[in-house]
Amino acid sequence: MKPRRIASSLLTGLLVLIAAATMGCNKQQQTPSEASAEVKPAAATSAAPSPAPRASSADSTSATPRPDINGNHVLQYVKEVVAFGSRPPGSPGHAKLEQYIVGKLKGVNVEQDKFTAQTPVGKFPINNIIAKFPGKKDGIIVVAGHYDTLYSQPKFVGANDGGSSTALLLAFADQLRGKQLDGYSVWLLWTDGEEAFVNWTDTDSVYGTRQLAQKWQQDGTAKKIKAFIVVDMIGDADLDILKDTDSTPWLNDLVYQAATNLGYQSHFFQQTAPMEDDHIPFAKIGVPVVDLIDFSYGYHNVFWHTPEDTVDKLSPQSLAITGDVVLETIRLLNAK
Ligand SMILES: [Zn+2]
Repeated sequence: MKPRRIASSLLTGLLVLIAAATMGCNKQQQTPSEASAEVKPAAATSAAPSPAPRASSADSTSATPRPDINGNHVLQYVKEVVAFGSRPPGSPGHAKLEQYIVGKLKGVNVEQDKFTAQTPVGKFPINNIIAKFPGKKDGIIVVAGHYDTLYSQPKFVGANDGGSSTALLLAFADQLRGKQLDGYSVWLLWTDGEEAFVNWTDTDSVYGTRQLAQKWQQDGTAKKIKAFIVVDMIGDADLDILKDTDSTPWLNDLVYQAATNLGYQSHFFQQTAPMEDDHIPFAKIGVPVVDLIDFSYGYHNVFWHTPEDTVDKLSPQSLAITGDVVLETIRLLNAK
């Protein structure tokens, strides 16, 4: 992903200033001792009007699973993914991860969308992996996250950038497997080739979703998509999901409503910026999109796209909070 229009150095400077202003309360919630256990209701200590975290999800206007993602379980998936090492398209680590993801989806309707991408450094195999969970309502909610890692840095293992999204989608699959969904169908999409091979441009980025948006526009699938939800870099222990101004406004609002319902709103939308990510190709063809990304990863975003993007920077709480908010968003979409 890449921040758009604002120079990244300026943006990260702004983010640091904003982060500094809000750091006190965030840090209190994330002491190392707490990080070892999963204590999701931490967000309920915010000064906002007291929410009814579970009551809102208890009414069953749909059979969407009650938001209860186990953050430790997701973090374990991150560790297993990172153990494959660097995972850019065409690498041994990428091939192992493809097998791993598909292996975790036994009994699920899985489609692999394989093609060859022309990049500035040659041709590479790209493989979008789609797990389909049918619902009773006519329409599809897509939850997407990239599983490739940066090509240009051999030592980059992407615990947060690539690992967290891969792992959270696996946890969603565990939640959805074997359930009869009364709401919309849910498709989990592990996107490939999100990262640029050289420098992020319109033609050197989001290879997988550019191809898929075109394919789904041609075969009529795109018209059925009620929401295309992207998760990216959502494991940072200091979770601060930004409000992306390129996302669909009503879907941004719905995500914030979901976060508020669960008492997690202090982790959402404290910062606003335009982001380029896997949602853009779908936004361009008129699909409602939202990009959930925390782009303040360490002081001055210092861990982003470096070998420092490792598992020790993540927390189970952050993974669980994002996961629960996505599931609550799906519940709200079904109830609309
Ligand atoms: Zn990245």
